[in-house]
Amino acid sequence: MPRRKSKQNLCPNCGEQVKDPYKTWELIAPFPDSKMRITVTIMGMFECPKCGKKFRGVVSKVKLGGEQVEFDK
Ligand SMILES: [Zn+2]
Repeated sequence: MPRRKSKQNLCPNCGEQVKDPYKTWELIAPFPDSKMRITVTIMGMFECPKCGKKFRGVVSKVKLGGEQVEFDK
């Protein structure tokens, strides 16, 4: 099984690592970065299997667009 590069999501209550969010949604940055890419952050809601605490965390981040885009002058 390949190692996931994404951040660990640890329960803020007991420190247990929670692997999979039960709900996810996307947050799209309102402004592009310096390379004109839009950052899309996948957020998730996690529920700790140990203590039942629910918390939000970042699932992953994706950068869209930019690179090869050129405009006619
Ligand atoms: Zn917990």
